[in-house]
Amino acid sequence: MKINGTRKSNLKQTVEELSGVRIDSCLKCMKCTSGCSVAKETKMHPSELIGLLKLGAGDEILKSDLVWMCLSCEICYGRCPMKINTASLIDALRKLAVERGTTTRKGNAPLFNKAFLGTVKQYGRSYDLQMIMHYKFGSGSLMQDTEKFPTMLRKGKMALLPPYGAKKTVVKRIFDTSPGGKGKIK
Ligand code: SF4
Ligand code: SF4
Repeated sequence: MKINGTRKSNLKQTVEELSGVRIDSCLKCMKCTSGCSVAKETKMHPSELIGLLKLGAGDEILKSDLVWMCLSCEICYGRCPMKINTASLIDALRKLAVERGTTTRKGNAPLFNKAFLGTVKQYGRSYDLQMIMHYKFGSGSLMQDTEKFPTMLRKGKMALLPPYGAKKTVVKRIFDTSPGGKGKIK
């Protein structure tokens, strides 16, 4: 990714505050990239992303495909000799991308993210049916994959009623105390 070297940005500091990650401790060993679940599919790799943040990259990095394709599997975190939690760092970038309106128009990952987290916040667990409705109305793809719905219902893969039994107060506290969260889902 091309980085405008003259552009001043507080992105690194903001991301560090949101994620609790110390970017400068990266050794550029690339162990995160060599184990990353999506590195074969993305143009940007985890070690590259961290390296660019370290060099003072600006908001253009928020458009990186890795920001929305990362699976939060934390394999990178497990492999990192410096215990850099790249997944947490990418979560912070996602939040900033939405806040600053720099999400790419390609794909509906931000919409899906919002739909998923919205149900987790409301019910304490994901409620797939509501999440899908939210996503479908938001994306306009109302009829896509609907033929699978009866099979999923029959096989018990999709519940009609919202989940119950979750400790909603605990989940709410997680949202309220998450970096930059305050319970807001954008
Ligand atoms: S594994 Fe850790 S130290 Fe090595 S490049 Fe990745 S983030 Fe940096
Ligand atoms: S958490 Fe994201 S960046 Fe890290 S290994 Fe998994 S997919 Fe790759």
